[in-house]
Amino acid sequence: MPESEKKQITLHGIPAAPGICIGQAYLVGTNSMEVVRKYPVRKEDVTEESARMRQAVKKSETEISLLIKKMQQDNSQQSFILESHLAVLKDKMFFGSTIETIEQQQVNAEWALKITVDRLTHNFNKIEDEYLRDRSSDIFHVYERVMRNLVGNDDKGIDTIHKRVILVAPDLSPAEASQIRVEWVQGFVTDRGGRTSHTGIVARTLQLPAVLGLGNATTQIHTEDVIIVDGIAGLVIVNPDENTLVDYSEAEARYENHLFEISKFSHEPATSLDKRTTEVSANIELLEEVVSVKDKGADGIGLYRTEFLYMNRRALPTEEELFENYKEAVDLMEGKPVTIRTLDVAGEKVAKGLMAPHEDNPALGQRAIRFCMRHPGILRTQLRAILRAASHGKIRLLFPMISSVEEILAVNQIVREVRQDLESHHVEFGRDVETGMMIEVPSAAVCADLFTPHVDFFSIGTNDLIQYSLAVDRGNKNVAHLFQPLHPAVLRMVKRVSETARDAGIRMAMCGEMAADPLHIPLLMGMDFDEFSMNPQAVPVVKSVVRSLDHGQCQALLEEALKLPTADEIADLITGTYGDLVFQHPLYAQDAPQDQPE
Ligand code: PEP
Ligand code: MG
Repeated sequence: MPESEKKQITLHGIPAAPGICIGQAYLVGTNSMEVVRKYPVRKEDVTEESARMRQAVKKSETEISLLIKKMQQDNSQQSFILESHLAVLKDKMFFGSTIETIEQQQVNAEWALKITVDRLTHNFNKIEDEYLRDRSSDIFHVYERVMRNLVGNDDKGIDTIHKRVILVAPDLSPAEASQIRVEWVQGFVTDRGGRTSHTGIVARTLQLPAVLGLGNATTQIHTEDVIIVDGIAGLVIVNPDENTLVDYSEAEARYENHLFEISKFSHEPATSLDKRTTEVSANIELLEEVVSVKDKGADGIGLYRTEFLYMNRRALPTEEELFENYKEAVDLMEGKPVTIRTLDVAGEKVAKGLMAPHEDNPALGQRAIRFCMRHPGILRTQLRAILRAASHGKIRLLFPMISSVEEILAVNQIVREVRQDLESHHVEFGRDVETGMMIEVPSAAVCADLFTPHVDFFSIGTNDLIQYSLAVDRGNKNVAHLFQPLHPAVLRMVKRVSETARDAGIRMAMCGEMAADPLHIPLLMGMDFDEFSMNPQAVPVVKSVVRSLDHGQCQALLEEALKLPTADEIADLITGTYGDLVFQHPLYAQDAPQDQPE
């Protein structure tokens, strides 16, 4: 179609990594999705057809092993996911079943592979092999690789890209993500995944703009289409018209310029006009992210989500492995504090045999501390590793999803026992580790005063506190408009918790993403937070906003805000007072483009 006839369309997805990029689309990972045809194989050719499948598997095995080796050389933490891909390749439910189908049904290898994978993924919950049951996305990535090798169509691998492009993919496997070279890849968009998916984390680590979870980007975008990725608003504009291109080119330049300006001071403390300093720290999921934490000038790691070392693998991580990981985080942070949160999983893929049981509503089920109390051995191992790593630097220990005093008492008892055990065995460990709890369940927020005698600090997790208090699933797009950090109920709870912490003289942090949005900072500054922690990319912006505010004035604004009945009115109050400050930020400089009418 001539360029002039292409119509602008706007796709809405999940903003997974901030930034704007404009460029040519490059589709990857879609070849094998094309229609797979079935054809019969003569009896005498069956052995050869099976051999073709074996060869494709062998080639895939070699490719994955090479990638693992490369990742290990690069000290990447992600190689264990590829190791699980190797395991899938060898699993009889995958490999054996495909060979069996070729031989018994006398069909081509592609078809046999497709129906094997269809069967595995469609009947997921019914599969007996527990390991495979937990592996839907792994199976899919392995399927794509083997299929590519079967049809000999591997000319679209990411490692072959030698021009500036924006990747468009159904999803990016860890193997594909590891091949991304930032000199060629400007950003990426995917059909699947979300902010906290592996792909989202990779995007933020590489500091590339990304919009994920678009649903059908790979069917709406073609290779060489011009696209705009707005990783701030979560938009992808396909075939933008002249005006949109000009607007976004300006926005991109503004964004880059703004980043440059605020980055100049991001390593300085965030001290308000009236000389109150708030620590601005960063949240991480993987050790690799520490690079961007430091690069962005964060004052520490305010939340290390430790889940990833437990997922997508056959065996639980050992104490030694965890210790090395936490110690490295502490070493890399060179004296700055690292807050390590104990395992927070819910119905997710934990190591083989330890998946939380299937629950209809995992967010309200055996999640986080509830899972750990069910498996105290796992918690003890993690605690030993954390306490040992604490002898190498400043570590704070944080417990997720505490909802009752009994829970924190039980957890504290386990910490005491682990300390005693380390002591009696003369194992070196940190003795001055502060312990804290997430305030992310409404019961903990409402009863905050009952918890203060038992912890050294609170950290408010607004991602969950909002989900649980407003009854809005944090990952459900249909109710995303109801996920309101400025809802009066949320503000009142946050304020109450902060007052309780101040009165009890304990430390107070917020590690939910509410703290990442400049719009919220004037109100949060009206409370008594010692620390804000958020995705590393937001650190410079938040620091620059804090520096422009006066605590006393923010307190007055907060009092006004608390009298208002709706989130919109509260937002209007903030922008009416501090519009220049929050609007100057390019997050707000861009209105969503309007598509041309049909
Ligand atoms: C939160 O709930 O706000 C939080 C920081 O934890 P997570 O996003 O890991 O649930
Ligand atoms: Mg949470």
